[in-house]
Amino acid sequence: MAFKVVLMLGVVFLAQQSLATGFDFTTSYARKALTLVEDYLPGHYNDFNPHPTSHGERAFCQTGEESCFSYDPDSGIGPQCWFKIDYPRNKCCDERNSFQSPIDIPVNQRTRHARNRLRYRRNHIKGELENNGIYPKFEPEDDNIRLYGVPGTHRSYIMDNVHFHFGPRGDERQTEHTIGGHNFDAEAHIVHHRSDFANVSEASVHKGGIAVVAILFSTEHGSKSPAFENIFRELGEVEDFEDEENVCFLENILIFIKRIFNLEEDGRCRSALIPTFPAPPSQQKVHRKCLLHTKDSRCGEHKDEIYLNPNELLSECAVYYNYDGSLTSPTCSEAVTWLVAAEPTRISKETLKALAAVESRFTGDKISDKGNLRPLQSLAGREVKKLRFPKRKHRYH
Ligand SMILES: [Zn+2]
Repeated sequence: MAFKVVLMLGVVFLAQQSLATGFDFTTSYARKALTLVEDYLPGHYNDFNPHPTSHGERAFCQTGEESCFSYDPDSGIGPQCWFKIDYPRNKCCDERNSFQSPIDIPVNQRTRHARNRLRYRRNHIKGELENNGIYPKFEPEDDNIRLYGVPGTHRSYIMDNVHFHFGPRGDERQTEHTIGGHNFDAEAHIVHHRSDFANVSEASVHKGGIAVVAILFSTEHGSKSPAFENIFRELGEVEDFEDEENVCFLENILIFIKRIFNLEEDGRCRSALIPTFPAPPSQQKVHRKCLLHTKDSRCGEHKDEIYLNPNELLSECAVYYNYDGSLTSPTCSEAVTWLVAAEPTRISKETLKALAAVESRFTGDKISDKGNLRPLQSLAGREVKKLRFPKRKHRYH
């Protein structure tokens, strides 16, 4: 542990020295710092090895849940390198897989009728919006918001969060899923775990353990959803990202050094390990607050007390594409029953601007600089069903 602290102090010192000596003097300090960081990260430049080490430091932050990964293909920790992230059961880029997401959804199938309505039994929930530096994320306060009617099981699914994906500004592709090659303007994922599991993590090793409802947004088609509008209205409140958990601390040092000295990535994949510091007593208090998601938490921007009707998050047209796939970010667990709405929900251009302004966890970047879209994955012979669910009784306009 002491070694890590000394190492990090050394890196910071070298970086500061390189700054203090002037940009035009020499890059040797920066290169030393870079080498130190790279040497520290065991297995970084090893041969391809998608399997996690048995001992190991995992790419987790202090909460034990987050790892540092990027959507920047040039960063060495971009999507093509996610297999390097040292998670247990990391399924990213597992070449044997055939269940990865997102995909381009084929559209030539006939529509089948689902027996049960897809719905939540609750019509009012309260939650909070936060910026975790990967995407803006709404989390319900109540951990028992149940979705019924997910095909293939009689069990209900408990809502964990609603988060948003969008592409780099100006790029044609702005959604993770595409439908018949068609791209929309942003995508929401409503993530649930099956009610017989304690949480997403536990559910993520069981096929069908997770259900994600994907809603595609368009500035030209569909109706606005009051529930999404209630979330979008608060985006400005979570625009900033505060890196209190140091998830990408090491990466940010690398970026800092590289930017100053104009150093290029060499294109090789790195896993991004985060040293775990012993938290001094004062920080332990902060950490507890983070876990409780209190308003004063210093773990990033929060906006609490957002009220919405979860049924209004679901697609008004009630037709969904259903397939077996994976989470679209590490660990890419192949446990997901996907329900991708066939018709878009309306989004305003102002909301797209508000999404584009949200800061990423990489210092000085917006999420929209690189976007947060995983490249499309192979369908690999999977069947995608088109399901029409019985309509909801109440519709919004
Ligand atoms: Zn997602």
